[in-house]
Amino acid sequence: MEAKILSGKEVADSVLEGLKGRIARCKEQGVTPGLAVVLVGDDPASQVYVRNKSLACESLGILSETILLPADTDQETLNALVDALNTDTRFHGVLVQMPLPKHLNELEVIRRILPEKDVDGFHPENIGRLIIGENTFLPCTPAGVMEMLRYYNIETSGKHVVVVGRSNIVGKPMVNLMYQRLPGANATVTVCHTGTPDIRAFTEKADILIVAAGVPGMIGEDMVKEGAIVIDVGVNRVEDPARKKGFRLTGDVDFEKVKGKTSAITPVPGGVGLMTIAMLMQNTVKAAEEQLNRKKWQ
Ligand code: NAP
Repeated sequence: MEAKILSGKEVADSVLEGLKGRIARCKEQGVTPGLAVVLVGDDPASQVYVRNKSLACESLGILSETILLPADTDQETLNALVDALNTDTRFHGVLVQMPLPKHLNELEVIRRILPEKDVDGFHPENIGRLIIGENTFLPCTPAGVMEMLRYYNIETSGKHVVVVGRSNIVGKPMVNLMYQRLPGANATVTVCHTGTPDIRAFTEKADILIVAAGVPGMIGEDMVKEGAIVIDVGVNRVEDPARKKGFRLTGDVDFEKVKGKTSAITPVPGGVGLMTIAMLMQNTVKAAEEQLNRKKWQ
């Protein structure tokens, strides 16, 4: 069977294209959607993510500002910056790039961002809204997976979805989106993690397998059902002396071996990673629209 390669670029481009009219309508009403991104320290992967976010904003005409803080920034300084961004009306979205240096409390920072500006969708209030099916900002990576499945008309209702990984930013929201009684969801969901003794017993039964573990190539051919759909969220740097940078990016799925067994699969790079930024742009525009509407009624 020839697997369909699900292109993150194609879906992300279509999401971004759809935002152009919405951004223009905000601007007609005197509001330029704005995103503030805070980066603490100099983690190279985070620097790349932050730069890509800023470039995406630029290409859409979204105002973006990146605030760089040294790695030894204390909690009070970071909290004060978040408070200032919360009240800065130029920014409809506020995002603090994770992970933070170890001495800082991530949850304290996430809780401090106003839920209406929490375009990462990590605030406990927004996670709660997701679980009870209310309007909210969906965390960008799981939302990107949902959008890819929708775009490629992949039926989820009644399917068995297995998610590997239970992090707060990918695995848990992914699981909670998938079982909602909503179009594009309504699946039966199993979640695997390091406490699962025999992961293969579950992954090999998945109609749709979503892997977000951060373990390069952990999903091999023997772990996947014939004809399954495989979504690889993993982005791992593995050493590669042949590359100029000395590393290459690879997913959690052994793509070359697994693809022949699937009906559709996402590559890494070129898959879910591109969706994350597109969904962040969508959340930022949504935040601007909602803040604009609120102002109209005040
Ligand atoms: P994380 O916080 O490290 O969580 C990893 C999860 O996978 C944990 O729940 C862990 O289980 C589970 N896990 C790890 N090794 C496992 C194993 N051998 N067997 C079963 N479960 C295992 O990572 P994350 O932030 O969710 O990210 C996961 C991956 O997605 C990473 O490669 C990351 O770079 C990538 N990612 C990509 C995007 C994107 O834009 N495409 C965005 C975010 C993350 P325990 O809970 O038991 O420890």
